[in-house]
Amino acid sequence: MSITDIFQQKKQVVSFEIFPPKQEHVLKNIDGTLTELARLHPDFISVTFGAGGTSANNKTVELASKIKIDYHIEPVVHLTCLNYSKDEIREFLTVLQEKGIRNILALRGDRNPDIEPKKDFLYASELVSYIQEFGGFHVSAACYPEVHLEAANALEDMKHLKEKVDAGANHLISQLFFDNDKFYKFYENSRMAGITVPIEAGIMPVTNRKQIERMVNTCGATLPDKFKKIIEKYETRPQALMDAGIAYAINQIVDLLAHDVDGIHIYTMNNPYVAKKICDGIQNLI
Ligand code: FAD
Repeated sequence: MSITDIFQQKKQVVSFEIFPPKQEHVLKNIDGTLTELARLHPDFISVTFGAGGTSANNKTVELASKIKIDYHIEPVVHLTCLNYSKDEIREFLTVLQEKGIRNILALRGDRNPDIEPKKDFLYASELVSYIQEFGGFHVSAACYPEVHLEAANALEDMKHLKEKVDAGANHLISQLFFDNDKFYKFYENSRMAGITVPIEAGIMPVTNRKQIERMVNTCGATLPDKFKKIIEKYETRPQALMDAGIAYAINQIVDLLAHDVDGIHIYTMNNPYVAKKICDGIQNLI
C-alpha cells in the first residue's frame, strides 16, 4: 500500500522511524525491536539511510524488506541524493522496485566535509522529480517547522518547500520540535503557501542528556523553558529523565492530535520501550 492510500483511509496517521544498526550482528537482533514496534500497529515504519556510501545503505533496503515481508507493515525507505550520481540512484530505485518497496522519503542529505558531492542532485526537489519520472513510487519529503539551518530565512525555505511539493512530493514529515506552537505556525504558513499534501509532525522523545545536546547542535530545535527545566531537574538521574522525556512527548502528541494534525511520526531511536510507553499513553486518542 502506498502512503497516499494510508492517508486516504485514515484521519490521523501514526508512524515510526528506525535506523539500521551499524554492526551486522545487531541487524540480526533487530527482530526484538521490530516485534515490539509491530505490536503497536504503526501505519508505516521508515528506515533511515546514510548520506554516502552505497554498501552501508544496503542495510536500509534489507531492513525495509524485513519490515514488509516478516511484519506486514508498510516500509518507507529514506534515500539521500547529494553524494550519488543519477545512475546510482536509478540502480537503487530498480532494487527497491524488485523488492516491492513503494514508498521513498526523498532527501538531499547533510553535507559531509570528507565527501565531494557528485553534483547530479543539488536539492531534494531534484530527487523528487527524478523518482517521479522513474515512476511507481509514492514520494515523501522532509520539512522544517523551525526553518532548515542552511536556509537564508523562513520565506526562502517555504518557497523551496513549495517547489519540492510541486516537483511531486506527496507527503511531508517534519523535523523534530519541542514547541508545538512552532509547528502550528509552520503548518498554517504551508497551507497559505499553497501546500496541500499531508504534513506529519516529527516527535523525538528525549531520553538522555547527550541526545539533547546532539539534537540542538544538528537541527537547531528550540528548547522551551519548561523543557529546559525538566532537563536541569533530572539530568543526573537517567531513569527520571527518560520518564520525564516520555511524558513530555506524550503531552506534545495529545496537543497535536487535539489540533487535528495529519499525523505523528515518532523518532523511536530503535527503542521499543519508549515507543510502547508513548503508544500506551495515546492508544485511545486515535
Ligand atoms: P532540501 O529540501 O534540498 O533543502 C536543503 C536546503 O536547501 C534548505 O535550506 C532549502 O531551503 C534549500 N533549498 C532547497 N531548494 C533550493 C534551491 N532551488 N535553491 C536554493 N536553496 C534551496 N539525513 C540522512 O542523511 N539520512 C536520513 O535518513 C535522513 N532522514 C531524515 C528524515 C526527516 C524526517 C528529516 C526532517 C531529515 C532527515 N535527514 C536525513 C536530514 C536531511 O538530510 C538534512 O536535514 C538535509 O540537510 C536537508 O535535506 P532536505 O531533503 O530537507 O533538503
